[in-house]
Amino acid sequence: MAQQQSTAKYVYDFEEGNKDLKDLLGGKGANLAEMTNLGLPVPPGFTISTEACRAYLADGAEPQGLAEEVSQHLRALEEKMGKRLGDSDDPLLVSVRSGAKFSMPGMMETVLNVGLTDASVQGLASQAGGNERFAWDSYRRLIQMFGKTVCEVPGEAFEAALEAAKRAKNTHNDLDLDAGDLRALVDEYKKIFSEHTGRDFPQDPREQLTLAIQAVFNSWNSDRAVLYRRQERIPADLGTAVNVVAMVFGNLGADSGTGVAFTRDPATGEQGVYGDYLQNAQGEDVVAGIRNTVPLQELERIDKASFDELMRIMATLEGHYKDLCDIEFTIERGKLWMLQTRVGKRTAAAAFVIATQLVDEGVIDLDEALNRVNGAQLAQLMFPTFATDGEYRPVAKGVAASPGAAVGTAVFDSHRAAELGAKGEKVILVRRETNPDDLPGMIAAQGVLTSRGGKTSHAAVVARGMGKTCVCGAEALDVDVEGRKFTVNGQTVSEGDVVSIDGTTGKIYLGEVPVQPSPVVQYFEGKVEPECDPLVAAVHRIITRADSVRRLGVWTNADTGEDASRARRFGAQGIGLCRTEHMFLGDRRELVERLILAETDADRQAALDALLPLQRADFLEIFRAMDGQPVVVRLIDPPLHEFLPGLEDLAAKVAVAEATGKDPGKDGVMLVAVRRMHEQNPMLGLRGVRLGLVIPGLFAMQIRAIAEAAAQCRQEGCDPHPEIMVPLVGAVQELETVRAEAEKVLHDVFTKAGVEVPVMIGTMIELPRAALNAGQIAQAAEFFSFGTNDLTQMTWGFSRDDVEAAFFSRYLELGIFGVSPFESIDRDGVGRLVRLAAKEGRAARPDLQLGVCGEHGGDPDSVHFFHEAGLDYVSCSPFRVPVARLEAGRAAVASEGSDSR
Ligand code: ADP
Ligand code: MG
Ligand code: MG
Repeated sequence: MAQQQSTAKYVYDFEEGNKDLKDLLGGKGANLAEMTNLGLPVPPGFTISTEACRAYLADGAEPQGLAEEVSQHLRALEEKMGKRLGDSDDPLLVSVRSGAKFSMPGMMETVLNVGLTDASVQGLASQAGGNERFAWDSYRRLIQMFGKTVCEVPGEAFEAALEAAKRAKNTHNDLDLDAGDLRALVDEYKKIFSEHTGRDFPQDPREQLTLAIQAVFNSWNSDRAVLYRRQERIPADLGTAVNVVAMVFGNLGADSGTGVAFTRDPATGEQGVYGDYLQNAQGEDVVAGIRNTVPLQELERIDKASFDELMRIMATLEGHYKDLCDIEFTIERGKLWMLQTRVGKRTAAAAFVIATQLVDEGVIDLDEALNRVNGAQLAQLMFPTFATDGEYRPVAKGVAASPGAAVGTAVFDSHRAAELGAKGEKVILVRRETNPDDLPGMIAAQGVLTSRGGKTSHAAVVARGMGKTCVCGAEALDVDVEGRKFTVNGQTVSEGDVVSIDGTTGKIYLGEVPVQPSPVVQYFEGKVEPECDPLVAAVHRIITRADSVRRLGVWTNADTGEDASRARRFGAQGIGLCRTEHMFLGDRRELVERLILAETDADRQAALDALLPLQRADFLEIFRAMDGQPVVVRLIDPPLHEFLPGLEDLAAKVAVAEATGKDPGKDGVMLVAVRRMHEQNPMLGLRGVRLGLVIPGLFAMQIRAIAEAAAQCRQEGCDPHPEIMVPLVGAVQELETVRAEAEKVLHDVFTKAGVEVPVMIGTMIELPRAALNAGQIAQAAEFFSFGTNDLTQMTWGFSRDDVEAAFFSRYLELGIFGVSPFESIDRDGVGRLVRLAAKEGRAARPDLQLGVCGEHGGDPDSVHFFHEAGLDYVSCSPFRVPVARLEAGRAAVASEGSDSR
């Protein structure tokens, strides 16, 4: 440890870094270094690493050696600039800028003009050709920024003094304040500073620098930065780098200024001139919107030479980064300086369009285009949207917590929402915030709207888990639950009034906004040609590439012929999970009740015989829809009492009958059965393979239905590929027993029918014990399908339905996990079980087919994991199939890139 300290290096000159060192230097620092080394005009400076920040935050003090290292680099900077920090004749000034690995716009702090003091302000003025106004303006900015950021002086105190100065001059424009006014303002600011801090504004420039650096470190843990990280799922332990950059001045007069630009339009990808420019100003004025900026095109008229150079530099940056960049620049008396660049943020649609544009321009190839987009963006493009052109204006905006466009009448409590929802009414559940009691209402609603909480609030977490549209934290809404109304911007919305919420943008509209289908979905459904619009054309090209490079198959979870056909249009190559329990509901419930209540073998067999043709018809429809493709049928899985009436209702009914002297009849018999089958913990009870082993003939009936449907399908000239999947197996003996029975039934059916359809028999791996004994289980299984929902529940000991509503938002807040393990696979826990089972299963049976059928099959990050783990396919809901295709392609390209072969 001691040795490490003596060799630690915390500070890097811009010449020493490059764009790939974002972990160490933060995005801003890494890109400043990259631009420096490209020979672009970047003011000299150095970066204090994120390591230093982490050490500082851990110990509450600067790590040993840091101060000395900063001083060394500062001396080198002074040499380069020919000025000394705070020198009274010709002071060097610096900016002290935050910059983490991931961009966190406006979340952390930056202090400009560090080094300016009472002693050096005159020197600065004379170096600027006697420009006193500039010097005092720079000084007042320093005191303001330093006071706010370093010493927590409330910003409003300074704002008020500035406003007062302007008022005294009868102006709204700070350019009308002259040197004398600004000098007086500096005195005013200093007073404010000492009033709030109990000390004078520091006159030692090196002390200013040290305090500013520490303030930037500390800003990593400011409330808003912490909140932002949680919302954006940025790890909490990265820390920020600090960039110390020689100041250049855009506030030296009309020949100076500052601006921001994109190298192409971030909404459409079109090449052109996109940006804003502000004459005679320092950088923060552009963002603050203090004065009106002019479009960047104007710069051509104002300062043609700088404009031309800027255009050349933007072309260089695009050529170098091979992507859209955004930049910050400053012009100091006709000399252009680059202050920041990064690969620019863009909308989901623009990401696809820009990626293919760059391919057409010969800048990148299609594999790189694939790398530039992601499944989350594609998923976003598949939601319906509001037609908001023109006439529809949002009344407020909240946090875009779960995407989609939802319209319905406002309802203020869960009970009422459930009641109206049951009648088929479309409702939006509006709450201040939600809690577990709101679950039924959330399920019944089209969407959820809250006035409090962010992306990890209960409403957000639960809505995302359900795939339900949600806008939360819309603070402009004053929700009055008792009064069944909310007010927003002076308008009142009562229960029954229609509202429209956009979970992709967070926008809230009063009244009904028409919803339009996604053109991307229409393309996947074959309703429009790829050429119909540039976005669809781009998606088509990229997904086609993904299909040609991916190794993972993409199958779907579908229980009906209709779902199957839809998924097939979306590109599914098979059904990885066909649940059979839905086939026991509706008007078949009665047969199932008969089966459960059967008192003799004959009764039971009669019920099974009645169910057989119904099941056969179900399978026939699906095998026809999936002609030529595999269909994995899962034998019945849930506890049987799920098919019976609820215990409490039934007990009440029987009690009422008995109290009024009536014979409870069938209800009485049912109650006995329901009591007998009641389980404390149904998830861990009589379900899955256990049912098949306990209820004679149940699995045999299902297997017979599968085999007969397959035989009939074959006789019709189709090519069915059924696979029989046994759920919840924990021991190979369970599977062996079912397998022996299945083989007998298959043989019997196919001999009678005179056709032979190959049927694979395999199991789900959804219990930790199954994963741990995969080698044994593979002896009896031709395939494994990882049921990652149950595997996650069983591994964590979570009951999903209970925990998501009860405490997941708290867990996310505490950072126990960055994302729900039901949303994205828990690589360290559940993922290890998957890898182990895949490895040991394949060792025992090399041609073992491996797939996954939990909801993780459609989650982008999880798809990459399954690719890495060597699975053969993922199976997901039909709607996620395109997302999985895209991510499987991206995973293949990524692993090829990292292949050493
Ligand atoms: P943010 O990350 O919030 O954009 P920055 O660190 O980029 O914060 O700085 C805030 C503003 O100050 C930006 O407009 C930037 O261009 C400007 N700025 C930063 N350093 C300097 C400098 N050395 N000289 C002139 N302007 C600067
Ligand atoms: Mg910036
Ligand atoms: Mg399961």
